[in-house]
Amino acid sequence: MIRDILISLAITTVVAIVASSACMYVFDYDYMKVFVVAMLTQLIGFYLWNSLLQMILKLRMEREQTIRIEQYNEQGLEVKCAHCNSLNFIPIKVNEDNRFDCTQCNKSNSVYIDITVTPKTDVSTRDTVSASSYIKEKADAARKLDK
Ligand SMILES: [Zn+2]
Repeated sequence: MIRDILISLAITTVVAIVASSACMYVFDYDYMKVFVVAMLTQLIGFYLWNSLLQMILKLRMEREQTIRIEQYNEQGLEVKCAHCNSLNFIPIKVNEDNRFDCTQCNKSNSVYIDITVTPKTDVSTRDTVSASSYIKEKADAARKLDK
């Protein structure tokens, strides 16, 4: 860690020395001014670059974590412990036996999955239709009474 920092500082200093020497030789600029500006520019530039990289990395990790949590939630269930009745969230796998140790009482449980297949039906909209027609009729009746 410290070695990396020293190496990076040495490279930064070498770049600043080369830049200030070149500017002094070619443009006749003040050596120390160019050296200080080159050092500061590099330090600020690297700081901004590292901050940007860390921000991108953090966003990526958060996105990945969210996807992992979503996948975990899709493949899990909240079940009651057979011993103490407390709720436990457990991952469910179809291709192997599902067991879990309760987080409250620490006793082991087995999970048996029963799959039921039913035909898919549409949700009836009759109740909402009759309710809205009832409201409309009531409003019409109230309007007639007002006249
Ligand atoms: Zn339990």
